Amino acid sequence: MRIIDGKKTAADFKAEIRARAVAFEKARGRKVGLAVIKAGDDPASAIYVRNKIKACEECNIASFSYYFDDKVDESALIELVSALNDDKNVDGILVQLPLPRGIDERRVLSAIAPEKDADGFHAVNAGKLFLGERTGSVACTPRGIIELIKSTGVDICGKHAVVVGRSNIVGKPVAALLLQNDATVTVCHSKTRNLGEITRTADILVAAVGKKKFITADMVKRGAVVIDVGMNRDDEGLFGDVDFESVKDVAEYITPVPGGVGPMTIAMLLLNTVDGACA
Ligand code: NDP
Repeated sequence: MRIIDGKKTAADFKAEIRARAVAFEKARGRKVGLAVIKAGDDPASAIYVRNKIKACEECNIASFSYYFDDKVDESALIELVSALNDDKNVDGILVQLPLPRGIDERRVLSAIAPEKDADGFHAVNAGKLFLGERTGSVACTPRGIIELIKSTGVDICGKHAVVVGRSNIVGKPVAALLLQNDATVTVCHSKTRNLGEITRTADILVAAVGKKKFITADMVKRGAVVIDVGMNRDDEGLFGDVDFESVKDVAEYITPVPGGVGPMTIAMLLLNTVDGACA
């Protein structure tokens, strides 16, 4: 078993992103800029936002933060997004999810100009991904997952990739990207029957379920590449969707939690922002 080092791969990407951001500043006389909007007091969101801002600093990207409490109304968020769409110092806009209850996340995300959609969640960019057009920004976690698989040297072409989870931010876009990379893709979800039978046929297994240690060794084919997207926090700490201790003896490659997909998600956010600035 070999561990896929997300921290190292993310650091390599960040070095490249920083070089591009420095060159951009020299050429344009301003920094690449990312606006970060957070509303409410979700503790996990606070950690994610802090890490994203710190990563901007490391990569010579200016970050502009906008924090609201959970009483903020949807129209105020949409007005802010519209102003940022017109702001020439802002190349990317990130709205940290989840938003407070009562706010329609889709409406807020749809207000972002597609060319400033750092997270790749806008319907235009999601649509481009499904059409195989390479001009839009791609959702960060799925983009990072593909880079992690490629970092192993395993060729995705022709492999059976099984994705457990079909969310709009992970499962569906990662399935589309695997398909774009010529994998044969199966997407599983909560209504899937005989899940273990299907996952056991996976050369590449992506777990994006949101359930601690859900994928156990008996569900994994020997020699598989296992990507654990899960971030499940409880009193005992942070856990993935994969039971790392047992699965590591079956898989050929596996991502740890933490230190796997998480760091790549942030690196890909910055990559989307620099790509947007340079477009
Ligand atoms: P969602 O809750 O939106 O989706 C979970 C998916 O898992 C759903 O499609 C659901 O199926 C499926 N599922 C639930 N139970 C089962 C089951 N028993 N068998 C098979 N499928 C099941 O989660 P997200 O996609 O947003 O996130 C998944 C995990 O990844 C979470 O732990 C999250 O914290 C983490 N995450 C990590 C990121 C990172 O950067 N590392 C970024 C984003 C997410 P159905 O559709 O039928 O309900």
